[in-house]
Amino acid sequence: SPDADTQAAAQRWCALVTPVMKSVFTHQAFHGGSDCLQVFGGHGYVREWGIEQIVRDARVAMIYEGTNEIQAIDLLVRKVLADGGSGMNTLLDSLQADLPKDAKASTPAGARIQTLRAITAQIVKAAPQDAALAYRVADDYLRAVALVLMDWAWLRIEAGVEDSTPNADKRWKAPAQALRSWVLPEFQMRSFIIVQQCTAAA
Ligand SMILES: Cc1cc2nc3c(=O)[nH]c(=O)nc-3n(C[C@H](O)[C@H](O)[C@H](O)COP(=O)(O)OP(=O)(O)OC[C@H]3O[C@@H](n4cnc5c(N)ncnc54)[C@H](O)[C@@H]3O)c2cc1C
Repeated sequence: SPDADTQAAAQRWCALVTPVMKSVFTHQAFHGGSDCLQVFGGHGYVREWGIEQIVRDARVAMIYEGTNEIQAIDLLVRKVLADGGSGMNTLLDSLQADLPKDAKASTPAGARIQTLRAITAQIVKAAPQDAALAYRVADDYLRAVALVLMDWAWLRIEAGVEDSTPNADKRWKAPAQALRSWVLPEFQMRSFIIVQQCTAAA
């Protein structure tokens, strides 16, 4: 875009989302590979199948290019706390505005966005009382942000699936449902941990 404000907004969006993507996809690559190994049982573990090498190769991505813990600290300490949460709130505004109509505030997706706003404000408020707080909750915070972003992305994908989309149920609807059933409930656990830590720090 030639517009300076649009450029700045895009830059802020990328700055916030980059550490999340690095961490969440490398975490998933390793754990996904490990789950594939598990399907093969003991055969997966031995070298002949090649899966153990994939698991080992995937593992390093959580370490290099900025370890995932350092990415989480980058997100929370250097980016979110640095401006008192305002950049994150702007990101959340854009996610909220983007949700398909029937997924706004009263639905789980909208509610998770509101919770993330609230816990961001709580960390901003409690951090000055406890210098280690942000470092203790950084991983949980990054994971909570990742879950909200995945929810948003999958709602947008689903909104784009049409009756004519090939293989729509298996390729798009089933994974979206699996995300809701098995992955997104983790958001409650992460936000609970953060709230507990903020309460203890206050
Ligand atoms: C196969 C391989 C290839 C590599 N290639 C390159 C390359 O081409 N170029 C290059 O420059 N580097 C490369 N690296 C180095 C890589 O970037 C580092 O290993 C990585 O940055 C982690 O640093 P470290 O190993 O010193 O771990 P450390 O910094 O000692 O960290 C050890 C552990 O403690 C955690 N930790 C550290 N500080 C904190 C903190 N403040 N809070 C919470 N947790 C913390 C880390 O997340 C990590 O889990 C490579 C590494 C490997 C394994």
